[in-house]
Amino acid sequence: MKKLSMIVLILSVSLSYAQTAGQGPPDHPSVTVQGRTYTPRSILARNMGTPEDQTTQFPPHKIIGNIYYVGTRTLSSFLIVTPQGNILINSTYERNVPTIEKSVQQSGFKFSDIKILLGTHAHGDHQEGDAAVKQLTGAQVMMMAEDVPALREMKPGGKEHPIDKILHDGESVTLGGTTLVAHLTAGHTRGCTTWTTKAQEGGKTYNVVINCSLRPPNVLTPPITDEFNRSFKRVRSLPCDVQVGDHPAQYDMQTKYAKLRSGGRNPFIDPASCKLEADIEEAMFHAILAEQQKAAQP
Ligand SMILES: [Zn+2]
Repeated sequence: MKKLSMIVLILSVSLSYAQTAGQGPPDHPSVTVQGRTYTPRSILARNMGTPEDQTTQFPPHKIIGNIYYVGTRTLSSFLIVTPQGNILINSTYERNVPTIEKSVQQSGFKFSDIKILLGTHAHGDHQEGDAAVKQLTGAQVMMMAEDVPALREMKPGGKEHPIDKILHDGESVTLGGTTLVAHLTAGHTRGCTTWTTKAQEGGKTYNVVINCSLRPPNVLTPPITDEFNRSFKRVRSLPCDVQVGDHPAQYDMQTKYAKLRSGGRNPFIDPASCKLEADIEEAMFHAILAEQQKAAQP
């Protein structure tokens, strides 16, 4: 009897652990894009990795021209270098700021030369560190108007979220000859911002797209559905030779980085894969919508 109750105890403990671990988005619907199958849960897991992945430095590297990767294994942070100071996109979690600083230094630049801090969207894994970066660098913090209410709520350690300039859809940010254009690609958050710029390499100019997440939530309300419908069209309209995203898995960074290490042509120049992430997320968006509509039928 004693042995049996022990087994029951172990079973119930492991069951409750499995239930806790299973929280988050559901494992349906599933979509298959270019031979790979995704569910809302698998996309989130792909994006976030483990807690260790979120805080472990990924080797900093040049993506193209004056654009460098300075983030962790699963949370992107991009440095854009100009003769008049640098731009940082995404501070990620506040606890990652020292790691980003280290990556900026290892790339050969000074953290204090960051003059402008931008973000892709008002979630803690992308912009929680804004106040810390502002404290360390004095950078001007600029953000899309529609994300301002959510960013004001983001106060790590009680620090007010810095807001120096509010941007609107289509507005550009220029520093030292580099211009970034802010495109409102709402849905994941109200002010989700996709940035575009041009980079020079080998005497050629390339269109670079820095995507905001297009991952749909579990429940699609009519306003959010409208936002996504507009955003997928918008993202598809952007000229693109190099696509990156706010999670490295959105552009298969690990594979491209391995190719970069082996030499040859720049693997980040990959127009054929520019729309892959939009294809995955748009398929998922329509699958969630269809599931939701079916469930609502009497
Ligand atoms: Zn997010």
